[in-house]
Amino acid sequence: MSAHTLEQLPFSNSFASLPAAHYTRLAPQALPAPYLVAASLEVAEVLGLHPDELQRPEFIEAFAGLRQLPGSAPLAAVYSGHQFGVWAGQLGDGRAHLLGGLSSPQGHWEIQLKGAGRTPYSRGADGRAVLRSSIREFLCSEAMAGLGIPTTRALCIIGSDAPVRREEYETAAVVTRIAPGFVRFGSFEHWASREQHEELKQLADYVIDTFRPEFRDADNPYSALLADVARRTGELMAHWMAIGFMHGVMNTDNMSILGLTLDYGPFGFMEAFDAGHICNHSDHQGRYSFRNQPAVGQWNLYCLAEALTPLIGDADEARAAVDDHFGDVFGNTFESLMRAKLGLRDAQPDDETFIGELFSFLQQHRPDYTLFFRTLSRLPATVDAKEQAKTDAALRDLFIDRSACDRWLQQWRSRQAQTPWADAKRQHSMLATNPKYILRNWLAEKAIRQAKNKDFSEIENLLNCLRSPYDEHPEFEHYAALPPDWARGLEVSCSS
Ligand code: AMP
Ligand code: MG
Repeated sequence: MSAHTLEQLPFSNSFASLPAAHYTRLAPQALPAPYLVAASLEVAEVLGLHPDELQRPEFIEAFAGLRQLPGSAPLAAVYSGHQFGVWAGQLGDGRAHLLGGLSSPQGHWEIQLKGAGRTPYSRGADGRAVLRSSIREFLCSEAMAGLGIPTTRALCIIGSDAPVRREEYETAAVVTRIAPGFVRFGSFEHWASREQHEELKQLADYVIDTFRPEFRDADNPYSALLADVARRTGELMAHWMAIGFMHGVMNTDNMSILGLTLDYGPFGFMEAFDAGHICNHSDHQGRYSFRNQPAVGQWNLYCLAEALTPLIGDADEARAAVDDHFGDVFGNTFESLMRAKLGLRDAQPDDETFIGELFSFLQQHRPDYTLFFRTLSRLPATVDAKEQAKTDAALRDLFIDRSACDRWLQQWRSRQAQTPWADAKRQHSMLATNPKYILRNWLAEKAIRQAKNKDFSEIENLLNCLRSPYDEHPEFEHYAALPPDWARGLEVSCSS
């Protein structure tokens, strides 16, 4: 397959074909004196962009908002949403410019700049993003893709020395994201709240025609769409919970209609296990704590159901589209992901109890969540009592109370005996489902500190490691480690 130059990217711009009410066309505001911070060859390939293009000065200019790519038609979309459970009214792309969409052999992709200046939806803010949050978004989207979790992707980060004021002065950056689409639950809430049902229908028809054309033949296409979003959101929540991901700001304007992880802000990955962990320092009530995520996902779906009710025709039917799909899909997906993590070959009637007890055990003893499963993956299903302390040493070392670890392992081994599976096969399967590498806060922080000194090598190293997090990377062994002392008490706020 021949790859394109930047100028040859075949823009087609489906979102821009919606009526003008849905967005404002406007050019990005270029970053002054831009330079390349990081780029993903894998995402370039997804777009059908030739790898050499990443070296061209025009690449920096295009993704700093300085040079318009032929065929692109930049715009900022309008949406509204519920923030922290409260109706926030109109929000919109306050610092995002959708350049347009294109089709490649790997699908349809919309390309968006984040941090390229003010738009009519900026609400008094500066339209910029800081280098720190851009690095976090870039790395985490690619880490999630590596983990196999639905997500927007990131092509590159372009930096600038232009100062941006947050709690203190930082420097600006633009991160380029790609996704099949960036439509949010809040995009629908926007029109429903204004009782503009014509625009509501235009948006729903656009989503159905572009992404789910098969629903055109359903009895009620809008109900089918909502049921689909409920299923995808259920799957997404199950993936987040199984991998230990916390989004941090699950407002309805950050919820993707395509079930993708969207808008990376104060996210976190679970380290020492605590189901009540709140990764967003600004979330004082803990609304978006780890354990609340599935319930919040459902709450957000009810907001979407209410917004789609004028099209579906009946409020009960709309709520039922959520109730009939979200809970079951979440529960079944989560259970099967946990079964895979635990190396259970087949389902057993008591698995729900077994998994519930596992989480109580983790909550009580707080081992590192990722290391726990990765280490468990290498243990044998049967063990000689005399050898046990030695065989299980690596897992026991994650616990202060080692006899508690022994007791749980005994239960795990009894459960293994119910559905026996050859060690080698089970271990192979577990290692492919329990990552060795996640984007720990301290890793992101280290890359950010170096980048502030213009050393971008750590971003590239992390990208290379995290794109295949289930593989061993001897050169990156240290990335699998527990947080070092300097990283204790790192806090992540909404500020970005
Ligand atoms: P977020 O919390 O990042 O999802 O943003 C919520 C809303 O605020 C969205 O409409 C954003 O576009 C907008 N927003 C956040 N930061 C900025 C900024 N620096 N400039 C303009 N708009 C922003
Ligand atoms: Mg957002």
